[in-house]
Amino acid sequence: MKEIKSIRDINFKGRKVLLRADFNVPETESGEITDDTRIRESLPTIEKLLADGAAIIIMSHFGRPKNGFEEKYSLAPVAKHLAGLLNHEVIFTQELLGEKVTDIANNLKCGEIFLLENVRFYPGETKGDKEFAQELAKLGDCYINDAFGAAHRAHSSTATIAQFFPNDKYFGFLMEDEVKHLSLLMQNPQHPFTAIIGGSKISTKIDILENLIPKVDNMIIGGGMRYTFTKAMGGKIGKSLCEDDKLDEARLLMQKMKECNVNLYLPADSVVADDFSNDANTQIVPSDQIPDGWESLDCGPEAIKAFDEVISKSKTILWNGPMGVFEMPNFAKGTFAVGESVAKATANGAFSAVGGGDSVAAVKQLGIGDKMTYVSTGGGAMLEYLEGKELPGIVAIME
Ligand code: AMP
Repeated sequence: MKEIKSIRDINFKGRKVLLRADFNVPETESGEITDDTRIRESLPTIEKLLADGAAIIIMSHFGRPKNGFEEKYSLAPVAKHLAGLLNHEVIFTQELLGEKVTDIANNLKCGEIFLLENVRFYPGETKGDKEFAQELAKLGDCYINDAFGAAHRAHSSTATIAQFFPNDKYFGFLMEDEVKHLSLLMQNPQHPFTAIIGGSKISTKIDILENLIPKVDNMIIGGGMRYTFTKAMGGKIGKSLCEDDKLDEARLLMQKMKECNVNLYLPADSVVADDFSNDANTQIVPSDQIPDGWESLDCGPEAIKAFDEVISKSKTILWNGPMGVFEMPNFAKGTFAVGESVAKATANGAFSAVGGGDSVAAVKQLGIGDKMTYVSTGGGAMLEYLEGKELPGIVAIME
């Protein structure tokens, strides 16, 4: 991968920086921000630019507005919240482009912050419209992308805009960290490399599995998707989750693992329930002998022990997807045990990466996020990267 100059080594004093952040935070109907993690994650880059003495113009999307301006998708509450976090004025106007915006941008002084209104109010944004990107580009004199959560989108403010700054485009700290860890994971992993893949559906993970098979030594497959594999091998799965139209695909994946000398670890035993409920009756049975009327909602103690042994011998670990229905306390054991095994291996020197939706939620619920080498901030972006796709937001800066 081409070396990109870190903003750490650049002084932006006197520059007018266009910063793409990801302020797509959850809000209540009345505009109250319920989780400001994404805003907080952008602070190191903003604070660095402020310390340098740059003028900062921030762009972000928020939600999925369909038809131009809609009050509920305005970034006004984010502007207020950001100002509070930074203890610094944030200039904001409920317009995206036009005379007023150009005026504010032209007169923006060093140390000032101007947050543009939701870029998705302009329909060209999501189409990667070049004219819109150029209008945005005119507002500043260099471009920093720190929106990893939107890096899989070829939009005007995440990708197209970069072409107007061929020698002046950078990753923000958050993006730099993600790109560094992802390339270490997928391009230069230490072996043994173990992937732990779980979650409900095999259909959403096929591309990831195919991309990982040539790279990993061990593949642990848990969660609901495991039972499509079990059925494909002729096991009895009761009423466990299964995608019958993916049985052939599962067989092909197992064949490919064999050809690539990947050790496949499926949970030997399962915690099965007579109902999809935390209070259901449960029993522990071999994963390929699940009685009729019962469904597996977690992996069993034997599986937990076997996974721990593999994980503890690994030098690189990627974890995507829970091992069971961890949202219900009675079926969270397998997921939490895997989390603890990964944390232990990390403490012993392994490189561990967690990413893509629910495994991040599980790690947070467990409170072991800081025991992993790296927890990705980008759900969809991380998944596409694991599928082997190039992320437009990354490519736009690298090329
Ligand atoms: P995904 O979005 O495909 O990564 O799947 C995450 C979801 O899979 C979580 O909400 C889990 O509750 C669910 N899940 C994990 N294991 C099972 C299982 N054995 N049966 C049903 N759902 C499961």
